[in-house]
Amino acid sequence: LDKEDVVLRVDGLRKTFGGLIATDDASFAVERGTVTGLIGPNGAGKSTIFNLVSGFYEPDAGTVTVNGVDVTGAEPHEVAEEGLIRTFQTPRKLEGMTVREAMLVGPQRQPGESFVKLFTSPREVEAAETRNIEDAQRMLEQFEIDHLATQPATDLSGGQLKLVELARAMLAEPELLLLDEPVAGVNPTLANKLRDHIARLNEEGVTLCIIEHDMEFIMNLADPIVVLDQGSVLVEGTPDAVRNDDRVVDAYLGG
Ligand code: ADP
Ligand code: MG
Repeated sequence: LDKEDVVLRVDGLRKTFGGLIATDDASFAVERGTVTGLIGPNGAGKSTIFNLVSGFYEPDAGTVTVNGVDVTGAEPHEVAEEGLIRTFQTPRKLEGMTVREAMLVGPQRQPGESFVKLFTSPREVEAAETRNIEDAQRMLEQFEIDHLATQPATDLSGGQLKLVELARAMLAEPELLLLDEPVAGVNPTLANKLRDHIARLNEEGVTLCIIEHDMEFIMNLADPIVVLDQGSVLVEGTPDAVRNDDRVVDAYLGG
């Protein structure tokens, strides 16, 4: 792959927790413009990889580059500045917040410090806040969840929450968006909606890397597919190639 065509490169990534090896010499690349699927049995190290590349964990070995910039060991907001934004497998708690408020706060906007703090004059602060609220509103409309804006975030269904997470991630204007199990526990109707939104984002130029347990969903949406097993890349290829690969079948059966 050409250097310019690669948004994310993971090379020899290793992370251990005590005696447990979560990722072991994991290497792969996400090519610009793709929807890259990251699959593998439970405990294969998929979420750990997302945590490592987005600055939430520090690797024991290996490197992470985003758009050719070495971000190994960087803070989440520094990685976000290079254009990489991620969602979480388990959405954070949003108690006491409306959907609109949830859109405006929290680590999902990875850029660590609030944008607003950069300004000194109260008028500028106010202007920035208004702009943030308008951006949030526009994003809620884009994801067809603006009718939920004033609802308590805790009242949302699992699927609605995933849509809010996606909309919020998009507020950071990512070049590369990492989604950790975007349709886990989501009903089929909302899962279809999520798929359509993800496909739209990709058409609009966002590169995606998606962890998903639902084989049907990921095989229809992503190409290529990277299969992780016991912390390392086992196979990568087209959905068809991966589907028909005995090593992949064995990995899933072996657990
Ligand atoms: P996956 O997302 O593929 O299901 P994970 O990356 O979540 O797998 O986990 C890989 C392994 O690392 C698992 O055995 C898990 O229990 C372990 N692990 C992940 N995060 C931590 C952590 N923060 N502390 C201890 N062990 C962890
Ligand atoms: Mg996981």
